[in-house]
Amino acid sequence: MGLISQFDPWRSKLCTCPSKLTFNPYTGCDHSCVYCYASSYIPKFFFCRPKKDLIPKLEREAIKLKGELISIANSSDPYPNLEAKMGLTRKCLEILTRHNCKLQIITKSKIVLRDVDLLRKKPSMVSLTITTIDDELAKVIEPHAPSSSERLKTAEILVNADMPTSVRIDPIIPFVNDNQENLIKTLASIGIKHITVSTYKVKPDNWQRLSMALPKTAEKIKPLYFEKGERIGRYTYLPKNLRLKIMEKMRLMAKRYSIKFGTCREGLSHLHTASCDGSWLLYSR
Ligand code: SF4
Repeated sequence: MGLISQFDPWRSKLCTCPSKLTFNPYTGCDHSCVYCYASSYIPKFFFCRPKKDLIPKLEREAIKLKGELISIANSSDPYPNLEAKMGLTRKCLEILTRHNCKLQIITKSKIVLRDVDLLRKKPSMVSLTITTIDDELAKVIEPHAPSSSERLKTAEILVNADMPTSVRIDPIIPFVNDNQENLIKTLASIGIKHITVSTYKVKPDNWQRLSMALPKTAEKIKPLYFEKGERIGRYTYLPKNLRLKIMEKMRLMAKRYSIKFGTCREGLSHLHTASCDGSWLLYSR
């Protein structure tokens, strides 16, 4: 199987992303987020490892590329702790920029700052995932990821370096992080121009982790998902009217602070004020 493929997030009917390719330099991810979706598809997911023969394989595949947009990465963070030592993602970016690709980096890590020189060579953007402004809460739901403060600092440095940067507030979990006014206000103050928001979707293994990390919340939201929720593809979603309410509130806040707004795999594209994944930022520099 090839390293680069068409972006098709688990064949979601609700994906509204523009056409793009996707590529993961690593298999698995050491951030160990309780809500992670990829862990239900990939064995030993929280044990992060580089892909076998990554660089020679990518060199071979990249010959066929014609400057497409590549999203890196959608099933793992391209900047796990290992990357600081191994530099594999950097080598991949060197190959892809040589082939004129446009790059969209999705990460929670400040290691991305190391590669701004490469990213600035082509139309590129960084999408930082920040689910809460509260470091203590982030430690519970994303135990091994960089703290929220560190991610906010990273976002600020990227914006100041004139690097197009969006923030993914993904996922929103009811009663946990559904009040995001402070985060959105802070994002506006550092110059973020786009947010992408998505609600938590239940998979059996992420539900198990969430129930262990936040048992009281799990009891509260259980009926919302398992009695009133909707089954869409292989996920259990919140009921549509509740998702709409959450998203309308987030959209209003984004508008108040002049931030563009998109949702991810929600089927609510009528709420979008720009391309859902923030890819309009690629040409904003
Ligand atoms: S950073 Fe993303 S891929 Fe990694 S564990 Fe968290 S949700 Fe999963």
